[in-house]
Amino acid sequence: NTSLHELDPDVAAAVDAELHRQQSTLEMIASENFAPVAVMEAQGSVLTNKYAEGYPGRRYYGGCEHVDVIEQIAIDRVKDLFGAEHANVQPHSGAQANAAAMFALLKPGDTIMGLNLAHGGHLTHGMKINFSGKLYDVVAYHVGDDGLVDMAEVERLAKESRPKLIVAGWSAYPRQLDFAEFRRIADEVGAYLMVDMAHFAGLVAAGLHPNPVPHAHVVTTTTHKTLGGPRGGVILSTAELAKKINSAVFPGQQGGPLEHVVAAKAVSFKVAASEDFKERQRRTLEGARILAERLVRDDAKAVGVDVLSGGTDVHLVLVDLRASELDGQQAEDRLHEVGITVNRNAVPNDPRPPMVTSGLRIGTPALATRGFTAEDFTEVADIIAAALKPEYDAQALRARVTALAEKHPLYPGLSA
Ligand code: PLP
Repeated sequence: NTSLHELDPDVAAAVDAELHRQQSTLEMIASENFAPVAVMEAQGSVLTNKYAEGYPGRRYYGGCEHVDVIEQIAIDRVKDLFGAEHANVQPHSGAQANAAAMFALLKPGDTIMGLNLAHGGHLTHGMKINFSGKLYDVVAYHVGDDGLVDMAEVERLAKESRPKLIVAGWSAYPRQLDFAEFRRIADEVGAYLMVDMAHFAGLVAAGLHPNPVPHAHVVTTTTHKTLGGPRGGVILSTAELAKKINSAVFPGQQGGPLEHVVAAKAVSFKVAASEDFKERQRRTLEGARILAERLVRDDAKAVGVDVLSGGTDVHLVLVDLRASELDGQQAEDRLHEVGITVNRNAVPNDPRPPMVTSGLRIGTPALATRGFTAEDFTEVADIIAAALKPEYDAQALRARVTALAEKHPLYPGLSA
């Protein structure tokens, strides 16, 4: 029963330092969020000790009567949340959810289509050295000059390459996809449609983004981004594909499920069905819109700062620094210096190398969870705009960040 601090002060000190970092800075990585204490409690529970290969009611281990209850609650809740016929809540991560979904529907060597990585796609949508690029023949589609996915190209490439699977979804894209149009194209060429809603699942749960479930054969997601739960993955599908999906996850891809994480997922699905969650997602969208608006004002444009696609419909903004003296790395470092965490991101046809880039991806989910309002997001946007100017006062901006962090305490019950 020795505590972490007693048993391992080295690890405990680093965990404390991370808590302090999260509390004292502004987290604006678009794929991050702050899980509720109840979610972390479930994830840190005795369930971490349990083996439960198989599915509720059909396990390969004894003593699963309680984890069966938990996993069934998670399945029922996530099906309800998104209106899905089938759910598998066992994937350890978003990447594993995608691997299992592809494993269920494809054979090695089959053709898949996905959004090019540099245009906003994810590694698992066909990047060359990812499993998806190694196992499958990949035809990538792109965004056009307007920053929007070029649906005419999607249709042309689908007709030319007759893929077995089309992936619609993204990691860095500020607009909504037309799922019905993707499905029409998939049907025309006899392909499955898989939507990876990892980034925008929370918006869908809140009814603030179109739901891909009625349009897709399979929908995958992570549970830790806008959805605000523990790190993990989920696969939703039609009832017809249920068996294939389940056997692709276990025994196809994984061994024992992480039932402590499944319990934390169940708790987060309960949260995601609440009015509070909806209100938080509304502020998430509002914050991103405010950010986009204030980063395209004349004084920002004058120093070469712009926003891809001219705005946003989701929880993130893609800052375009192609015309700026600052590259993505320098801009990320500047914001880090004033206490704002973001990640640099390649923009389509980026003239700078991938480790440097000409863009930033800035997201609002974590700050919305912290309670940030429109007024706070306006202040955040103005701090970011000021930090990206040639002359900036790092100390003064850091003080404004600290004031915002103190205004919205994070995990007040936890202390370092
Ligand atoms: N799918 C999309 C669209 C993502 O953006 C990500 C993560 O960034 C993933 C899948 C992978 O999730 P994980 O990091 O949990 O493997």
